[in-house]
Amino acid sequence: MFVIVHSGALIGIEALPVHIEMKSGLHGDPGLRVVGLPDAAVKESTERVTAAMMNGGFSLSDTRTVINLAPGDIRKEGPIYDLPIALSILATSKQMDFSRLENFVIAGELSLNGNVRPVRGGVSLALLARRERRDLILPKKSAEEAALVEGVRVFPVETLTECVKFLNGDLEIAPLTPEKSPFRSRTNAFSADFSEVKGQFQVRRAVEVAVAGGHNVLMIGSPGSGKSMIAKRIPTILPAPTLDEFLEILGIHSAAGISLADENRFFSRPFRSPHHTISDVGLIGGGSVPGPGEISLAHNGVLFLDEFPEFKRSALEVMRQPLEDGEVCISRAAGKITLPSRFMLVAAMNPCPCGYLGDKSRQCRCSPVQIQRYRSRLSGPLLDRIDIHVEAPALSIDELRTAAPGESSASMRERICSAREIQRKRFAGTTLRNNAQMASRQLREVCALSAEQGMILQRAMENLGLSARAYDRILKVARTIADLAGTPSIETPHLLEAINYRSLDRNTQYF
Ligand SMILES: [Zn+2]
Repeated sequence: MFVIVHSGALIGIEALPVHIEMKSGLHGDPGLRVVGLPDAAVKESTERVTAAMMNGGFSLSDTRTVINLAPGDIRKEGPIYDLPIALSILATSKQMDFSRLENFVIAGELSLNGNVRPVRGGVSLALLARRERRDLILPKKSAEEAALVEGVRVFPVETLTECVKFLNGDLEIAPLTPEKSPFRSRTNAFSADFSEVKGQFQVRRAVEVAVAGGHNVLMIGSPGSGKSMIAKRIPTILPAPTLDEFLEILGIHSAAGISLADENRFFSRPFRSPHHTISDVGLIGGGSVPGPGEISLAHNGVLFLDEFPEFKRSALEVMRQPLEDGEVCISRAAGKITLPSRFMLVAAMNPCPCGYLGDKSRQCRCSPVQIQRYRSRLSGPLLDRIDIHVEAPALSIDELRTAAPGESSASMRERICSAREIQRKRFAGTTLRNNAQMASRQLREVCALSAEQGMILQRAMENLGLSARAYDRILKVARTIADLAGTPSIETPHLLEAINYRSLDRNTQYF
């Protein structure tokens, strides 16, 4: 007797088809043999499958049985195949009806008592099932993610017995639909708000412009100037993702084994803030089983790098290409995989190693050589890719006490969403989602300057010694400022503000 169960293997964030082929009634000693998995995984899997079947009141096959996970050249991880393996044993030993197995892609880890536990990559498996025109059976938690993918029917199961009854036609299970997915109905409730940030109008404004157009931003200021406080409130002003954007976010997190449901971050954009001691692989992605790094986990959201120059130079330099392309290429033994990594970079740094250069209240203790060495950790090409540079001056106790409460996140977010809506209409029918992603062709179309404005920008380029790349960045930021103001063309104050955000290019005190 020969049975095939369809499942998938996760490579990066893509699920590739895997077949569980089962042949029983072979000559030789009774027993179960699994081929096509790493040895350790096989041993663990057969133990879980055996225990789960016995707990469900099923009997093990009394003939020699071989299970092959094909194709053999795809690297597979064990637990995801527990449920398909158990089903193929039950089907070949005629303990269940196998006629419907063909219609499904199935994945799930079994616990010893027969419960089905969540697996990584629910969204990726749903995309695989849709490509193969099959329905999908998944553990309940994974099914909730997968159900957001349109055009595929996802059936949630909680135990092995339940799954068998469903396949036998003895139990009805309603497929989860995108509308029924719990992800759709919940949004974030934030404990922090921009109204708590007093003063720092320039930095608040720069951050608002950055979020409105998806621009990378670098904040420079001494400790206590509120850089981190401001950065941590950015999630409160991010516009909600579209369904497509959220599916990409969910797919990456699900492949990395991070459940957004557990983190209570339903239907929002990611905000990742890794520590500067993070490894290159942790930041960029990769590893023996290649998985997404922080730059991919921040896809469609924000990557916040505090103490920017303290990050390893190698990691920062590798980040340059993803910053430009919106994707990262990871080498692995069997070739390369490409992962999406279109994030908004928010970086923060002190002006010098001690942090107090230019501070009114405290004296900087650093030597010119120390300061030079500190700054040279950030290369020119990396800084070039950051559209907005802004200084956060330290506030005195007096200034802090007397400053009025800041504007609330809600009203900042309203302006940002209007500006994003203008961009959505502007880029309808293209793959672009915001002004920061524009290429030269679109720049010429939507960032036209008057003759007088052209001269202002030309003069600024010469006086400040700006690069051609900086020229493009100024135009994009000016476009976003005009969008925030709701004006169809870029006006001179918008251009001047955008030029002002190149402080690192012009300020020799810093670089
Ligand atoms: Zn210093």
